[in-house]
Amino acid sequence: MPPRLGVVIPCYNEEAVLPETRRHLAALLDRLVADEHIAADSRVYFVDDGSRDATWRLIEQFSTEDKRFGGIKLSRNCGHQRALLAGLLTAEGDLLVSLDADLQDDPTAVIQMLAAWREGHEIVFGVRDQRDTDTAFKRLTAQGFYRVMSRMGVDLVYDHADYRLMTRRAVECLREYGEVNLFLRGIIPQIGFRTTTVRYVRHERFAGESKYPLRKMLALAIDGITSFSVVPLRLISMLGLATCGLSLAMVAWIFYGHLVLDSTVPGWASTVVPTYFLGGVQLLSIGILGEYIAKIYLETKQRPRYFVERVL
Ligand code: UDP
Ligand code: MG
Repeated sequence: MPPRLGVVIPCYNEEAVLPETRRHLAALLDRLVADEHIAADSRVYFVDDGSRDATWRLIEQFSTEDKRFGGIKLSRNCGHQRALLAGLLTAEGDLLVSLDADLQDDPTAVIQMLAAWREGHEIVFGVRDQRDTDTAFKRLTAQGFYRVMSRMGVDLVYDHADYRLMTRRAVECLREYGEVNLFLRGIIPQIGFRTTTVRYVRHERFAGESKYPLRKMLALAIDGITSFSVVPLRLISMLGLATCGLSLAMVAWIFYGHLVLDSTVPGWASTVVPTYFLGGVQLLSIGILGEYIAKIYLETKQRPRYFVERVL
């Protein structure tokens, strides 16, 4: 018996791409079912993340025309990570694949993912082979992000976005993670089981524009770091220690200058510069502490991460 597949697609204002996405996915499902790689009742779940355009109307239309297309409507815009989680925790199927609506990540890689699953892997990460089609800016910031994360000791799959296959068992493990500050790329490698990667070529968005402006990318990066790494806190302590050491050395130098060289000039620079410098260090340190406290504050409230309004 081939497994039942569920494809989860978060959509935020994606009316421009959805009809094309639907065509591609219908063709993919046809092909996979014909090859007996997946069961005939496999489905695609579009998660409408509080779109303000015709996205939900399109999803409703798809689902009336073709039973293989389902929809999950969230009560408001919750962000990509939460929309994805809502889809994964609501969709049915033995295997779930998550994919972006714009099909920048080649959907035919699912064929390789299924092959990896047949070899016994429970989580298969899609990894971007090349990013020529991304703007230089996007490429630079994204790669810088993966580098910083690995420096901070966060276990990430390099150049893997949220395109992956998970077995039902892995998805049920994901359900156990109750955190409000969601960073799925950090959580899922922690689940364990046998995992592997599959390489694919990243295309251009064929319509619409990126729903990830710099602001959202930065927020995701800060969430990722502060949810998974205490290295910034440790850096503060080290900075503090180094500053103390430095000022002790300065005291020694002043004594030396006064007692041995007898050449101390009442200094303006030596008073003012450290004041500004230490002020900056302290503000920065307080800011980093604040980031973590904000995380604790949000987690302790245990607020629900999303509400599902309708399921088709
Ligand atoms: N998305 C979402 N909610 C948001 C922002 C984005 O569900 O608040 C979805 C979007 O519809 C798309 C996916 O997340 O399916 C990735 O967004 P996008 O392709 O714009 O990001 P990029 O590829 O530019 O990083
Ligand atoms: Mg995209």
